[in-house]
Amino acid sequence: MSELKKYMRSIPDFPKPGICFYDITTLLQNAEGFKLALDQMEKYVQSRQPETIVAIESRGFLFGAALADRLDIGVVTARKPGKLPSKTISVEYALEYGTDSLELHSDAIRKEERVVVVDDLIATGGTLKAACSLIEKLGGKVVGVSAVIDLSFLPWREKMTGYDVNCLISYDSE
Ligand code: AMP
Repeated sequence: MSELKKYMRSIPDFPKPGICFYDITTLLQNAEGFKLALDQMEKYVQSRQPETIVAIESRGFLFGAALADRLDIGVVTARKPGKLPSKTISVEYALEYGTDSLELHSDAIRKEERVVVVDDLIATGGTLKAACSLIEKLGGKVVGVSAVIDLSFLPWREKMTGYDVNCLISYDSE
């Protein structure tokens, strides 16, 4: 078992019946747990030699921003619709529960720029795949994907075929 699992908790039937919500707030509020997660993510992200990090709203921001600071690179925010003030590109995708859209500023990624995408959790992989497609639409290269948790009982690997994905904690059943 990952030593990080002890900092996590899971909440049954949130946000709706039948969904088990993996709560990272307990990891974040523990200095030791948060640092350990960042140390492990940093090792992977550093190895992919990114020029920028794309962090996904909203829990991905917490990890993406801290990692960007550690690596001395910038962080780009992939946001829910209507939050980014300048010209955007947008994609709609399916969630484990419902559908959503994600946006990037059109000028946020340079052509051929090496990008690592950061989020807290991969469930179906829909959100990360959407972020990757936005980055590629702008001409960027997704050289890695980093998440704290993956739900390995969901078929996200099929969706993320071709991407280098690193996760720290895996849950193999609900
Ligand atoms: P997905 O697009 O299905 O991979 O969903 C990933 C996004 O939804 C992440 O940004 C998570 O924060 C959130 N999410 C989806 N399912 C869960 C879950 N069971 N527990 C906690 N967060 C989740």
